[in-house]
Amino acid sequence: MTVSLRPLFLRHLAQTSDMPLSLEIARAEGIYLYDTEGRRYADLISGIGVSALGHGHPAVVSAVRDQAGRYMHTMVYGEYVLAPQVRLAHLLAEQLPESLDSVYLVNSGAEATEGAMKLAKRTTGRSEFVSMYDAYHGSTQGALSLMSDEYFTAPFRPLLPGVRHIRFNCDWCLNEISEQTAAVIVEPVQAEAGVVPGRTAWLAALRKRCTEVGALLVFDEIQTGCGRTGSLFAFQSYGVVPDILLLAKGFGGGMPIGAFVAGRELMSGLSHDPVLGHITTFGGHPVSAAAAWATLNELVSDPALIGGVAAKAALFKTLLAQHPAVLDFRQAGLMMALELDSFDRCLKTIRVALERGLIVDWFLFNNRSLRLAPPLVISEPEIRDCCRLLRIALDQALLD
Ligand code: PMP
Repeated sequence: MTVSLRPLFLRHLAQTSDMPLSLEIARAEGIYLYDTEGRRYADLISGIGVSALGHGHPAVVSAVRDQAGRYMHTMVYGEYVLAPQVRLAHLLAEQLPESLDSVYLVNSGAEATEGAMKLAKRTTGRSEFVSMYDAYHGSTQGALSLMSDEYFTAPFRPLLPGVRHIRFNCDWCLNEISEQTAAVIVEPVQAEAGVVPGRTAWLAALRKRCTEVGALLVFDEIQTGCGRTGSLFAFQSYGVVPDILLLAKGFGGGMPIGAFVAGRELMSGLSHDPVLGHITTFGGHPVSAAAAWATLNELVSDPALIGGVAAKAALFKTLLAQHPAVLDFRQAGLMMALELDSFDRCLKTIRVALERGLIVDWFLFNNRSLRLAPPLVISEPEIRDCCRLLRIALDQALLD
């Protein structure tokens, strides 16, 4: 019998809430996690929005093993020519428009946001930012300043001054973007608001307004990127190109890495006046960069992966949207929200689903909706099986 580490987890690891899920993970493979008692859980949130290729994908594992055996950390970011970083940046730039050809590798999503904010200030000489209500761009103080929600921000004030919040998809709100705005930071599909897709015409108008007033447009694709919405990056299906693109989460295929991507000239602002305008020791860690390259390489070379997202997404919708507990079903590819009638109903469904071996979740700014963001590799039989179990959980949640 294995001794549970749960008491030590609760005692020595800092907690972020008083109700951690506390699953004791023994191993993970494909869409499944296995706990120390041998129970299997389908990871329908990719923990969270990360494991696009599923857990333990052989290409990623082998890239990690290989790179760990060659070298790990050798020098702070940006000084040495490190093959995993160069290969990753090259492959990424090949997928992007020419105006996004310079990649700054960091460790996380929040750090990508921070880097983009600094780059925008440095480039425009302005200090105001515009962000959206119910957006999440990270938990560090600059990124947190972009958050509208008082509950999460008030205890940490003062944060950065000069942040305006506007409503997502609101046309007249674009007038808030002015000659004082350094950058507008937006997710093409709002994730933590509960999967709210941007309107194409609105994103195009936003692009136009930013160009008119000389503000940079930053797309946070930390959740929407890496195939999640059915194209490699969501901006590609919208046909609206940002000045800076933020990546993390799924980008590393399970290893920690993030990036902000811009044009070479724009990015050069961080290398002079001052020199070392943004620095990081571990950003683009060779092992993470190797994993990210392997992940991106799979995503672009296996047409079934991203090409399969639309059909899988449609199957989820067919199997779930009609359930009487589901009041609304919002979706951008395999980023999905099932709106129920209350937070209690959500919590009950999440609990019952867990008992049945499914991991689902709610959203930071929409606690009436269930989050589904399965690995893109989920198969049709797996979808059918998971949806059958989820429907049972929804049935039970209705029995109140
Ligand atoms: N932006 C978005 C859209 C996110 O979903 C997240 C993470 N939930 C972040 C930024 C921050 O990423 P990280 O947790 O890696 O700092």
